[in-house]
Amino acid sequence: MKKNLIAPVAIAISIALVGCKATTTADTLAPAQQKTVQQKNTNEQSNPFFSDFTTPYGIPPFEKIKHQHYLPAFEHGIELNRQEIAAITNNKAAPTFENTIEAMEKSGDFLNTVSSVFYGLTGSMSDDEMRAIAKETSPKLSALSDDISLNKALFARVKAVYQQKDQLNLRVDQKKLLTDSYKSFVRGGANLNSADEKTLRSLNEKLGKLSLKFGENLLAETNNWEMVIDNKADLAGLPDDIIAAAAVTAKARGHEGKWVFTTHRPSKNPFLTYSTNRKLREKIYKGYTMRGDNKNANNNQKIAAEIASLRFQKAQLLGYKTWANYVLENAMAKKPENVFKLLDQVWPAALKRAKEERADIQKMADAEGGHFKVAAWDWWYYSEKIRKQRYDIDASETKPYFSLENTLQGVFYTANRLWGVTFKERNDLPKYHPDVRTFEVFDKDGSFVGIYMADHYVRKSKRGGAWMSSFRKQTKMYGKNITPIIYNVTNFPRPVGDKPALLTFDQASTLFHEFGHAIQGLLSDGYYRSQTGTALPRDYVEYPSQVMENWMTEPEVLAHFAKHYKTGKVIPQTLVDKIQASGKFNQGFGTVEYLAASLLDMSWHTLTTAKLQDAEKFEQGVMKKIGLIDEIAPRYRTGYFSHIFSGGYSSGYYGYIWSNIYDADTWVAFKENGIFDQKTAEGYRKNVLETGGTDDPTLMYRRFRGKDPSVEPLLERRGFISKKK
Ligand SMILES: [Zn+2]
Repeated sequence: MKKNLIAPVAIAISIALVGCKATTTADTLAPAQQKTVQQKNTNEQSNPFFSDFTTPYGIPPFEKIKHQHYLPAFEHGIELNRQEIAAITNNKAAPTFENTIEAMEKSGDFLNTVSSVFYGLTGSMSDDEMRAIAKETSPKLSALSDDISLNKALFARVKAVYQQKDQLNLRVDQKKLLTDSYKSFVRGGANLNSADEKTLRSLNEKLGKLSLKFGENLLAETNNWEMVIDNKADLAGLPDDIIAAAAVTAKARGHEGKWVFTTHRPSKNPFLTYSTNRKLREKIYKGYTMRGDNKNANNNQKIAAEIASLRFQKAQLLGYKTWANYVLENAMAKKPENVFKLLDQVWPAALKRAKEERADIQKMADAEGGHFKVAAWDWWYYSEKIRKQRYDIDASETKPYFSLENTLQGVFYTANRLWGVTFKERNDLPKYHPDVRTFEVFDKDGSFVGIYMADHYVRKSKRGGAWMSSFRKQTKMYGKNITPIIYNVTNFPRPVGDKPALLTFDQASTLFHEFGHAIQGLLSDGYYRSQTGTALPRDYVEYPSQVMENWMTEPEVLAHFAKHYKTGKVIPQTLVDKIQASGKFNQGFGTVEYLAASLLDMSWHTLTTAKLQDAEKFEQGVMKKIGLIDEIAPRYRTGYFSHIFSGGYSSGYYGYIWSNIYDADTWVAFKENGIFDQKTAEGYRKNVLETGGTDDPTLMYRRFRGKDPSVEPLLERRGFISKKK
């Protein structure tokens, strides 16, 4: 979850369908809606959502918004959205871009404001009552979404406009809005005859049940497995805190006085890394990799095969060759061939490196006098020994140089050098929690850009991870530029006494990463709200955030911010080099296990038959074809690949490396021209940050770089090939 914006993206997706793509405040309300606001009775007058936000910059009046205000506001927003859609379909005038597509884009404003505040705060200020409201609201929002996407009269109007799209003289972003709107109906089955519609409904229903079952089985498999240790000698090599945690687990599971390890990562990973007992390492490794594969009631093999088959049938019904073709239509990659092409370019170099790493591991095992050929369950154990030998870096060495405050100033410094933007802290603006820090952001010409909020510290009401989202997105669709209100949430430690909050190297990178999303939201310069900021395909959305991380480790930037909190001394470059070198360690393994899972995902979803596969044989066939070595398993095997069988990532697991390639290729431009080269920074701003989802990302990238990205910079970065001179 770290470095991800999963929840906000999921919300954006779920509400995109109901025509409320982002947040807004009352000063952006369409005239029709303002009228409705005035008509509210006195009861509703005390509810802040029912009147204009009179706060500076239209920031939501957080102190006035109470739990009891959400449900009535949701109800009203849903009702208002239905009325707005009805007004479009009841329009006697012939369908036009303005009275249909643009009208849909403008619908749902009220709901959108409520959703942005509510779902924003469920991530960072959750409690039982908020969860109860979410539970009550969620089916109502789904029903609204279904009612809109299955609205035949609405689709007829959209289709009528779409059919004239080439005669309408539309701008690029308008054409995209029209096409995306039409396609989202078609993808939901709007063009099907009634018999096919019935089939689709039945396929969706079966898929829903199977995905749920897959997840339940996996949960049961994960929870049921345990390894009970009653002999203290079998704990050899394990750190004390891991042993203590295992004792707590044992007690909770009715084995008081013993130690229990499970296949959950916080238990399994340290065991594989530190346990000197090879037999037990094998046991826990197999416990983990056999989940969903055991001959019991929780077996997921047949379910996975059925899901793949039903997805193929659904794709066919909707006119697509395979499920991956259906999914990738909405991604930057566009079609499976492009994904395979990319994965095939990285695979040989990664596999070659993994084999070298395997040889190193074997050497280490031999040196310790082990007379065996290393196996998959030895990888963590020996690679950790090699890591310690080559790059032993203690977090306590680096942390004093990365105080939260200094790192934040480093982020602002970088943005200022690149784009001339400045940040001015304001302590008098509404905030949802005392931890929140609020900044006015100004452009290089002094004009106001937007509001940036940072909510850094860990607290109980916050979910884990780090993310970016907005209380209001930038848009120009109401005749003037509505400025964005963007926020970052992280889970960093609080200051202790007079010691400032100190970050690990990874946490400092996270701050740069999340700011990379935020700056895209802030510098956004689009027209339609559903397209602005980070409204991007999922294989592209992590690209700008990853790019931002690069500046952090540049000597010029480090010299500015990475100063010891006590002595003020800048972090020694040798220490930074050591950290960066350690980043290349074990990348063969990491990339290979990731690519193997990506290829497994793509293989399941490019099937051109509904015939049920034998999942075990299918997976073995794929791995044999790519030449995966026995010592590495795909990061997710079929039986527990919940991202693709019970989550929303089918044909999408490749997305992480796709974004990485764009990031590495972009960084080459900055390194060649100068990390603060104004022309490069401006080109990146104009073609990537400002444009958001207003055009095809492939074209936008070409405008920035003058070419498609090449894969070599990524291979160099991971240490698979040496840097070109
Ligand atoms: Zn991210």
